[in-house]
Amino acid sequence: MKSTLKVMHDTGLKKTPARIAILDVFHHSSKPLDADTIVDLLEKHDVKTDRVTVYRTLNTLTDFNVLKKVEFGEGKFRYELSSLPHHHHLICTSCGRVEDIAECGMEDVENKLQKRTSFVIKQHNAEFFGLCTKCQ
Ligand SMILES: [Zn+2]
Ligand SMILES: [Zn+2]
Ligand SMILES: [Zn+2]
Repeated sequence: MKSTLKVMHDTGLKKTPARIAILDVFHHSSKPLDADTIVDLLEKHDVKTDRVTVYRTLNTLTDFNVLKKVEFGEGKFRYELSSLPHHHHLICTSCGRVEDIAECGMEDVENKLQKRTSFVIKQHNAEFFGLCTKCQ
């Protein structure tokens, strides 16, 4: 995966401390994060910031397609790096735990749909909701 500084360089975005710190958080996380979690993580790492800056930075990074917004029906957005390979999510409806799953398995469904509808499919999203091993 591209390093934080390489991502900033490629987008031509100015390297502000908030942008670098937030992208670092994403490079060290294996799941999509919401704004509040990011604020907490930055505070833990003694990065001086505030909610407004974090929200604004997340929007900018999403506008430049560095981050991708994901929504799991939690009443809030989460974000993850756009550079991640195509994947899906498992979401626990009891504790809110989110896991990335690398297997797609949608190719067959896509092919059949394209044949049946003559629609050209460019991409798809799929999230799976249920109970994690702890909550079962
Ligand atoms: Zn759970
Ligand atoms: Zn993900
Ligand atoms: Zn897929």
